Amino acid sequence: MAFKNKKRAMSPLNNAGNKSAFQIKRMCRFCVDETNIIDYKNIKTLKSLITERGKIIPRRISGTCSKHQRKVTTAIKRARTIGLMPFTVPSGLTELD
Ligand SMILES: [Zn+2]
Repeated sequence: MAFKNKKRAMSPLNNAGNKSAFQIKRMCRFCVDETNIIDYKNIKTLKSLITERGKIIPRRISGTCSKHQRKVTTAIKRARTIGLMPFTVPSGLTELD
């Protein structure tokens, strides 16, 4: 797939006014590791991106970039439809397996 690989500038000027200018930049795990493929059959990866109640974790929490978060959302919804992942986990049944 052809797409522009954006390199994020680690400039402290981006955090102007922020006291924690040198905190570690949280990177999207799918941008960092190109072998980590988002797929509706890859339940192991998708499970780490939902809560134990089955809700999709927002990207402000997980750190996923917007491009990959859209792919994650589509993959989770596909996996739910064919029954690989739960739509919801009832209270008391928090174990996904
Ligand atoms: Zn990404």
